[in-house]
Amino acid sequence: MNSKPETRNQKLEDLGEFGLIEHLKAKLKSNDPTVAVSIGDDAAALKLTEDKLTLITTDMLIEGVHFSRANFTPFQIGWKAMAVNVSDIAAMGGKPQWAVISLGLSSSLSSDYIDHLYDGMKALGEKAGGIVLVGGDTTSCRDLIISIALLGSVEPELLTLRSGARAGDYLAITGTVGDSALGLELLGRSSSRLPLSLRNSCEELIKKHLQPLPRLEEAGRIVKSKLATAMIDVSDGLAGEAKRIAEASGVGIRISQDKVPVSYSLLQICEHLGLDPLKFALEGGEDYEFLFTFPPDRQEEVEVGLESSVIGQVVPESEGIKLIDRSGKVKDMPGQGYDHFKK
Ligand code: ADP
Ligand code: MG
Repeated sequence: MNSKPETRNQKLEDLGEFGLIEHLKAKLKSNDPTVAVSIGDDAAALKLTEDKLTLITTDMLIEGVHFSRANFTPFQIGWKAMAVNVSDIAAMGGKPQWAVISLGLSSSLSSDYIDHLYDGMKALGEKAGGIVLVGGDTTSCRDLIISIALLGSVEPELLTLRSGARAGDYLAITGTVGDSALGLELLGRSSSRLPLSLRNSCEELIKKHLQPLPRLEEAGRIVKSKLATAMIDVSDGLAGEAKRIAEASGVGIRISQDKVPVSYSLLQICEHLGLDPLKFALEGGEDYEFLFTFPPDRQEEVEVGLESSVIGQVVPESEGIKLIDRSGKVKDMPGQGYDHFKK
């Protein structure tokens, strides 16, 4: 029993998802020489061959928690289940290659429905350079569950961890944030109440939620140019992922509110519905963008060569995780990540 005394016998609603992961990390600690990276990053890295590291990750989508069958087509469920896994392998600097798929299925589903699930997985796999589906497991279940374990590989010198950020580095993010969370919000509202001029924007945001496409080319470029000192994929919101980089690296982070990239569609719709764009951008999850840190002398490469925005700085740990608001005031970072258990 290696877990820390303070995390023993605690209710998950008090411990939280991240507290539980810390607890498991202590409990599962091992000195196995084949393990280069264990619990605590986007994927584990294993030394199975001389020249490459093998990456392995798993992520699960559950009906009623991550999606509803009323909103998602089976193609989109399969696509998204693969996308969230691919995003974790890409965040380590790697290339996804093989997957096994575990399904919990109700007997009322048809084989056509399952075919469409697999069509979605395969379509995303092709976008990611070709992923071979080599097995899985099937069980009956009331709700639909899809869990994918994805294997990939990375050259050791290109492995990019959450823990490499150093004070003085800059912080950047690919694409825009908040779109998927606003898309989810819009799914719960009737789009017929929006003026016609906003319907396209609405559809675009909803699509980002239903069928996210991780920015894999961008991630590939960041990795191949050895630009990033640390990287993470943005599945749980910008603020939460910034905190994970900060904690893993033992640093503080400052993000300038002004610099956080949001889409025109998000701004338009937030304005129309009286919603706060910053809340979606900082706290909204499932954008599957890449957040990374890099040395300041490489700023031009980020600003000119990549579809990325420089949004902040890495500072000493003692300075904490802060947001610089429009007036230049330093505030505590709001919304540091979605927790599956916390009340
Ligand atoms: P991500 O959001 O990138 O998928 P998670 O927050 O799910 O990452 O996981 C963070 C780390 O905790 C990863 O290294 C993952 O492998 C590990 N982890 C999560 N759940 C468990 C579990 N039930 N048992 C062991 N390790 C876990
Ligand atoms: Mg991740």
